[in-house]
Amino acid sequence: MLEFIDTHNHVGLASLGETLEAVAAKSKAAGVRCAVITCAAADDFERAAEAARALHWGYCVGLHPLYLSESSFEDLKRLRAFALSHRDDPHLVGIGEIGLDFYVEGLDRQQQECVFKEELALAQELYLPVSVHSRRALFKVMECLAAYPGVKGALHAFSGSVEQAKDAASKGFYLGFGGALTYPGSKRVRACAKVLAAEHLLLETDAPDMAPAFRSEGPSHPADLPAYLEELSRIRAESSDTLSAVIYRNSLNAFPKLAALTAQ
Ligand SMILES: [Zn+2]
Repeated sequence: MLEFIDTHNHVGLASLGETLEAVAAKSKAAGVRCAVITCAAADDFERAAEAARALHWGYCVGLHPLYLSESSFEDLKRLRAFALSHRDDPHLVGIGEIGLDFYVEGLDRQQQECVFKEELALAQELYLPVSVHSRRALFKVMECLAAYPGVKGALHAFSGSVEQAKDAASKGFYLGFGGALTYPGSKRVRACAKVLAAEHLLLETDAPDMAPAFRSEGPSHPADLPAYLEELSRIRAESSDTLSAVIYRNSLNAFPKLAALTAQ
């Protein structure tokens, strides 16, 4: 049976319409060996840690650019305190979901950038990888990342151009692909997934978000990963066996602390 790692989801924080036990059983049955739960806000940290422990998965703590509030300075302090006090937690595998969103109108871009940089500094200090959100902001995201050369990780739900994908890969980042692969209209996403070297690819569901074409009303589920792999292997005309082995290894390279979790 092929094995998968869902490198980005929100299980335990946002509802998939079923219990955590049901999510765990369904994921396991689909070959999902491990996953990374990513946070949106400071109130998520403890819950993400609990869900990750219950599921034997990893989790990331961070402040999502879409959910920053006027108290983001306080939230950054909470993030820092939590990350430092949990640095020896084997389940804390990274900092995320962090990044920039210039797609949604009316958000404070300067605040986003300021918070993002603080989070990158924290990742650098703790030697943790990041799970990065970027919408219409990739140029600025790459500029911020370049200022923290020790920080690597995943560009989640990659939606840039082929040129940007190759650039990010050449700088040592992994690119996450998921539900968007299943839409024939997602031409850019599919083009990037086709031309990148397999060594830079990750699979993710963003569950319960980014629903696949075959369940466009959502929610998405970690158990959707085998279908995403199938689509990817069709797009690349590459065997799913080979591809899944490479992507599994990439996931451990992107989030090194997952190795200990998957070895158990
Ligand atoms: Zn997400």
